[in-house]
Amino acid sequence: MLQKINKFILDALFPIACFFCGKRDTWLCDECLRKLPLLAFQLCPYCEKEIVSNGHFCEKCKKTALEKNIPPPLDALICAIKYSGISKFVHLFKYNFVSDLGAPLGKIIVKNFLKSNLPLPDFIIPVPIHKRKLKWRGFNQAEILAQTVSQNLTPGILLPVHSDILVRRSNTRAQMKIKNYQKRLANIRGAFAVSPEKEDLIRDKKILLIDDIATTGATLFECAKILKSAGAKKVCGAVIARQEFK
Ligand SMILES: [Zn+2]
Ligand SMILES: [Zn+2]
Repeated sequence: MLQKINKFILDALFPIACFFCGKRDTWLCDECLRKLPLLAFQLCPYCEKEIVSNGHFCEKCKKTALEKNIPPPLDALICAIKYSGISKFVHLFKYNFVSDLGAPLGKIIVKNFLKSNLPLPDFIIPVPIHKRKLKWRGFNQAEILAQTVSQNLTPGILLPVHSDILVRRSNTRAQMKIKNYQKRLANIRGAFAVSPEKEDLIRDKKILLIDDIATTGATLFECAKILKSAGAKKVCGAVIARQEFK
């Protein structure tokens, strides 16, 4: 009942109309989706300075990693669009609890992922949120995006979405509230674990991690690190946009 009232209020506040042109009955019409200025190139996910192909890390970051003998956990990161071009839309999705917006946003992720030459994953994992946050928001925004990616990445074949492999252990402080990069890394360390009975599913697999927005990338790197240490062969990430870290 409460959910129905909630939906009624939301429909009144946010009548379904294309966010960009106002066309009714769709959150993002096909024409506006086509016209969205998707990123024409990807930056190195680590230094965010060098233009790289397929979202891989740049030569310099590769070299630094080799010298330290720690291969970067995330193999590649594909961002779909500039944050400023989509920020209000994302905000509506995430903080006004309009879960229906996940579908168009997921399609944006798919569009740019398909432009890359990255291999198709064996399955998809949405970055998990803590159960307390899940209760508060009512949905995991990354999970909704992951479902849309699963339905659209390989037409006709539904890529599995595994939401129970990676678990969020601690309710970390919101990364957005932490202004220092090292502190962000420390805040997220240890926040994720692989569910022990799911370890067999990961071994030698190619995994695509999905999240809504990446800032420093610390969350994605940490998830990838955990998955790699549990035996994953390749872990790539895809997000709607990368928010500038101030
Ligand atoms: Zn439109
Ligand atoms: Zn780099």
